[in-house]
Amino acid sequence: MSIIKAKNVIFEYIRRDEEGNVEGINTAVNNVSLDVKQGEFVAILGHNGSGKSTLAKHLNAILYPTEGTVWVDGKDTSDDSHLWDIRQNAGMVFQNPDNQIIGQVVEEDVGFGPENMGVPTREIWERVEESLKAVGMYKYRKHSPNRLSGGQKQRVSIAGVLAMHPKCIVLDEPTAMLDPGGRKEVIRAIRALNDVEGMTVILITHYMEEIIHADRVFVMDDGKVAMEGTPKEIFSRVEELKALRLDVPCVTLLAYELQKRGIPLPAGILTGEEFVEALQTVYKG
Ligand code: ADP
Ligand code: MG
Repeated sequence: MSIIKAKNVIFEYIRRDEEGNVEGINTAVNNVSLDVKQGEFVAILGHNGSGKSTLAKHLNAILYPTEGTVWVDGKDTSDDSHLWDIRQNAGMVFQNPDNQIIGQVVEEDVGFGPENMGVPTREIWERVEESLKAVGMYKYRKHSPNRLSGGQKQRVSIAGVLAMHPKCIVLDEPTAMLDPGGRKEVIRAIRALNDVEGMTVILITHYMEEIIHADRVFVMDDGKVAMEGTPKEIFSRVEELKALRLDVPCVTLLAYELQKRGIPLPAGILTGEEFVEALQTVYKG
């Protein structure tokens, strides 16, 4: 079964004047359909304003479609009676870790979610331990979150979501406010969650290199899904990506330019290693 399914979702932000008359309508999500299976790692890519966050908020019943339907674990998000189920099953991580961490001590912070859900105390501690271990933050369990780096804080917020035992985790540009080191450590933790724990992951980002390890990628533009495919398929379509104002990674661009000049490299090279191997194959004949 799909963990998350969206069918022909349209969402309109309606702007009203002081008297409540409609001044304008902004269609932020325009007829988007997607289907995410258990254990999948799906990336949603798109430049600023393409509708990623608006879509993300539908996956957790923060927003409801103007038209169309979203189901989380088979439950229609616009049915209020499922709200808490949906919020628990599709855990959300946002851009700014400072807005998500509330505890004075890391382990206490991670325990808040399950505590609010009424999980028995002994089980809370088990969940806190397992979640912190899953993101590589267990040794910081007694630390104050204020003293952690951005990447570490973001991993603590991920642990906080994991402790609620969601079926899927939705991360809305979790690395946007981090330095390159922090970005790498957060992406590594997200990959491990998917690989090792089998967690279903929906990663929203505007950094192309973060989608390399996804099973499937959706590229959004102007509220619509402009491209869909594996990372390799997506990275093969360099001209389209450039037209969508996305930064194609250097190595992909370099391979693409060489290919255009007649060097027989395969399309959609994603990493330096792949590039070196492909070049060796060309020159060894
Ligand atoms: P992204 O996350 O890809 O940057 P958003 O979903 O935030 O995109 O925004 C999509 C569109 O919706 C943009 O045109 C943005 O200006 C508009 N938008 C976002 N939030 C609101 C809001 N609260 N009210 C009105 N328009 C909004
Ligand atoms: Mg956004």
